Amino acid sequence: MKYVLVSGGVISGVGKGIIASSTGLLLKTMGLKVTMIKIDPYMNVDAGTMAPTEHGEVFVLDDGGETDLDLGNYERYLNITLTRDNNITTGKIYQHVIERERRGDYLGKTVQIVPHLTNALQDWIERVAKVPVDDTNEEPDICVIELGGTCGDIENAPFIEALRQLRYRIGKGNFLHIFVSYVPVINEEQKTKPTQQAIKEVQKLGLHPDLIACRCKKVLLQATTNKVAMFCQVEPEQVVAVHDVSSVYHVPMLLEQQGIKTSLSKILNLDELKLSVEQV
Ligand code: ADP
Repeated sequence: MKYVLVSGGVISGVGKGIIASSTGLLLKTMGLKVTMIKIDPYMNVDAGTMAPTEHGEVFVLDDGGETDLDLGNYERYLNITLTRDNNITTGKIYQHVIERERRGDYLGKTVQIVPHLTNALQDWIERVAKVPVDDTNEEPDICVIELGGTCGDIENAPFIEALRQLRYRIGKGNFLHIFVSYVPVINEEQKTKPTQQAIKEVQKLGLHPDLIACRCKKVLLQATTNKVAMFCQVEPEQVVAVHDVSSVYHVPMLLEQQGIKTSLSKILNLDELKLSVEQV
């Protein structure tokens, strides 16, 4: 199993959901079976009790799970059917660990965020990633995980730590991190400082993004791309520009035109994976 993590910084609503869905779709066009997990770092166990005016539509899954609207995007972009377990919230994972604690699963131990909650999160992700989501009824090859919220938030911390450990454990070539950032335009100038600071923040937490997706109102200038690359210590090819488009269904094309499939293939060794899929 390989994983793509989509997280974000600078502001909320930066476009992580659309970039996660678009990346999933592009992986599917490469012949891979793709599943998706959304992590919402809020305390609600699910989105069913949240005001749509504040949080957007509640998307109801086939199994009755009331989830974040991003699950609807994933199902529409990828033509897959997800379950309530594909949406993890702070409330849901704490409830799971607390129920285990009451049952006596951790007897004798002091139950802590690290390692008990972070281990529970990794177990949950690895279990759900294997569940078939399309008509082939086969185990997916790759799981795209979208981490909601903004990296550096208190709410995000246990999830970032769990994902850092997951990346460390499964190793290079099995995990790719896309960090979605925002480039504001002030007096016609595209400003990269918020992105530089957001990358520093996420690096401090132990994650080193492989691709930096810069969301911007306008088409990103080459000079802006170069500046982000230089100050974030990545190659310009690792900077992906995502400007505002008239329909979010154009975003997969926007990513493809910038060679994201080549980057995904190279960083995740997808040729190896396709070879082993063909051999089976
Ligand atoms: P996040 O997951 O970071 O909260 P979303 O992916 O839900 O952000 O996007 C927030 C809003 O911005 C949504 O209304 C979405 O349709 C819109 N959006 C995202 N990407 C683009 C884009 N490239 N062009 C125009 N609108 C976009």
